[in-house]
Amino acid sequence: MRFASLGSGSRGNATLIERNGTRLLVDCGFSAREAERRLLALGVGADSLTALVVTHEHIDHVRGIARLAARYRLPVWMTPGTHAAWGAQAGLADIELFSPHEAFALNDLEMLPFPVPHDAREPCQFVVSDGAWRLALLSDAGRATPHMREMLRGCDALMLECNHDPDMLAAGPYPASVKRRISGREGHLSNGQAAGLLREILDSGLQHVIATHLSENNNSPQAARDALAAVLGCEPEWVTVAGQKDGFTWRQIIST
Ligand SMILES: [Zn+2]
Ligand SMILES: [Zn+2]
Repeated sequence: MRFASLGSGSRGNATLIERNGTRLLVDCGFSAREAERRLLALGVGADSLTALVVTHEHIDHVRGIARLAARYRLPVWMTPGTHAAWGAQAGLADIELFSPHEAFALNDLEMLPFPVPHDAREPCQFVVSDGAWRLALLSDAGRATPHMREMLRGCDALMLECNHDPDMLAAGPYPASVKRRISGREGHLSNGQAAGLLREILDSGLQHVIATHLSENNNSPQAARDALAAVLGCEPEWVTVAGQKDGFTWRQIIST
């Protein structure tokens, strides 16, 4: 199994996961044209995708979904709540629903969804397994729940939201209501919350740790790296930050 990011942050998110011939795009917060361009930069034609999977209805996760689905006749997987809030009105031809409490298979990949506390209708995130390895995706969560910790334990690769630095958020330009939303219990994980969660699930088998969904206004890549590296006991440079402009290139999970 290998994975890559087309870009991550409040202006768009999309994660590409591949095993054998199965290629999934989890979220697409970029326009279809932009997503096609970013896929090609990773050596992938959009016509080779297997399915689109949506975590929740926020625009930074769904912007290009409907057009990509129509252009390449792709099924779009989502929870019933995401369907009610967005999918039913999105003009999609092939909708597949899943429960955020039940695993399901997409060809060669097993999807293990779990609910997250976030201000959308029925948001979820995923552990993706190829039978041997587990990649965990976690962004758009206001706090860590016991169930989230349980799901993330034992993963081999982790893409973890480091949305904001609380001091930068407090001192920054956003209105008070937006600051409250971001730092609230159904908002986004701060660097410190992400580091606390990482500490609780830390495992010697963890091969990749990538900081995602960084705010361009209320965080810095260095602050996110420092927070996670302090837990991992590694050099900050070892921690990859998924950029808004270009995400990160292919990562492979391998036998060690
Ligand atoms: Zn988001
Ligand atoms: Zn969101």
